[in-house]
Amino acid sequence: MVLGKHKPLISHKTHKQIQHRLNGGDASYKNREGAIEDFPLRGYLVCPECGNNMTASNTVKKGKKHPYYRCKSSPKICTYGGKSIKKADLEAQFEEEILPKLKPSEQVTELTKAILQRKHQQKLDNLSREQTYKRQELAKIDNNIKSLVDKLTTTKLYNVQKVVEEKIDKMVQTKEKIEQEIKAVDKVDINIGTSQKLVNDFMQGIDISWKKGNFNKKQSILRIILASKIPYTKKTGFGTISKRLPFCVTEDNDNDEGRMVGAEGFEPPTKAL
Ligand SMILES: [Zn+2]
Repeated sequence: MVLGKHKPLISHKTHKQIQHRLNGGDASYKNREGAIEDFPLRGYLVCPECGNNMTASNTVKKGKKHPYYRCKSSPKICTYGGKSIKKADLEAQFEEEILPKLKPSEQVTELTKAILQRKHQQKLDNLSREQTYKRQELAKIDNNIKSLVDKLTTTKLYNVQKVVEEKIDKMVQTKEKIEQEIKAVDKVDINIGTSQKLVNDFMQGIDISWKKGNFNKKQSILRIILASKIPYTKKTGFGTISKRLPFCVTEDNDNDEGRMVGAEGFEPPTKAL
């Protein structure tokens, strides 16, 4: 990149920060050892003691990488400030305790299925109405052809015969076209099972997607489901998670946190630039 001589609209530093953000990076991350991709929970963990975000990085000792998550605060401010938690431990605990909770409830899945089914039925109804209308059109055309043929047999005038023949030709063409359209719709196997399976797989397969998914997949799962960051300390473990509305409405929460979900709307938890 060549720095221009005129005064830029935004500073070079801001530009770099924006580019980093656009590339999926966390603005607070300052290219320490290790790729961002090493830490799927980065940006989604908060220290409940001080309220600061948790960060993650690799510490390199004797040429070997040791990945850690830690509270960003200074140890002077927070008991957990700067204290490292092994990535493997924290993520294993996440998969065991939090991941199962990210699944939408059975009721939400059922509701989604019911909506899908209703839409499907509407589509079938529309198609059936169209087919009926087309069959009525065919009957009308048949009648018209019949009366034109009658006319053809009663007239002796060559010019009239020619015009009538042309009309019949056009009507026969239209008739064939409509017949093909009817056949095409009749042939289509409109199966609701396939689309229901897709919804089911998505709704129920969050833990599978997580375990198989790459960094981006994992972060988008968190972004879609979580309404706020997950509290965590090494001592107390994970705190209560709050999910976005579609994922929690019908859940039997035994705490008050669930009801608070939705206050932040559907925007991703904000990050300061
Ligand atoms: Zn802290």
